[in-house]
Amino acid sequence: MSKGKVWLVGAGPGDVSLITVKGMDCIKYADVLVYDRLVNPELLTFRSETCELINVGKQCDHHPIPQSEINQILVREAKLGKKVTRLKSGDPYVFGRGGEEAEELAKENIPFEVVPGVTSAIGGLAYAGIPVTHRDHASSFHVVTGHLRDGKDPLNWQALAALDGTLVILMGVSNLDYICEQLIKYGRPANTPVGIVMWASRANQRTVTGTLATMAQIAKEQEVKPPALIVVGDVVTLHETLDFSAFLSNPQD
Ligand code: SAH
Repeated sequence: MSKGKVWLVGAGPGDVSLITVKGMDCIKYADVLVYDRLVNPELLTFRSETCELINVGKQCDHHPIPQSEINQILVREAKLGKKVTRLKSGDPYVFGRGGEEAEELAKENIPFEVVPGVTSAIGGLAYAGIPVTHRDHASSFHVVTGHLRDGKDPLNWQALAALDGTLVILMGVSNLDYICEQLIKYGRPANTPVGIVMWASRANQRTVTGTLATMAQIAKEQEVKPPALIVVGDVVTLHETLDFSAFLSNPQD
């Protein structure tokens, strides 16, 4: 039996056609597809008739499948000689724990490749009409996690508040109040524009906007729920002019 191999594939932010050509090949020719909760299920329909599906994004009793178990599944399937496609949302190395999966494969001497994807942190914002940089508005961008690890905050808010580039926060909805408070506390003006983009590039995409001072309240009123991108900075003001999400079409249409 030939030796198995794992491809860690970025599925893109949600719109099926945003996967790369190589990523799509990895789906078509896989013996087994191991996929996450945020991956658009329509992508799975491109698999072969014999391809097995393993859903590792299922949250039974809200407990996600532990990362160690996911790593073991990848190792086990590859050792059976299979072509394993590990389909992850966005880009596999942007907060997707892809690095840990790759380390495990390297440790086990299993051949693997990474197929980069369009991260929601950039492509997802684009679909809401928010360019992550803009000559007149932001000359840098910073992508951070809003998730507290073991209840501790890993971020230096003082440093983040001092930057005047675009700040993109993933996994931040449940800590939105805290995030806005910290940025104001360390000196970002309270009227700095904030946007929240839910289900970016999917049919149910929704964007709400406000400021550091008002966003927490607006998010409650507008029932903001994950998955969502929080974006802080002047580029948010472009949303109204540049949002094309209501007029999506493919060039061949
Ligand atoms: N690797 C992914 C991020 C994984 S972390 C990437 O590159 O995009 C998961 C977080 O990403 C979610 O909690 C949310 O903050 C964000 N996210 C991913 N896809 C999203 C989407 N379509 N819309 C809004 N947020 C999204």
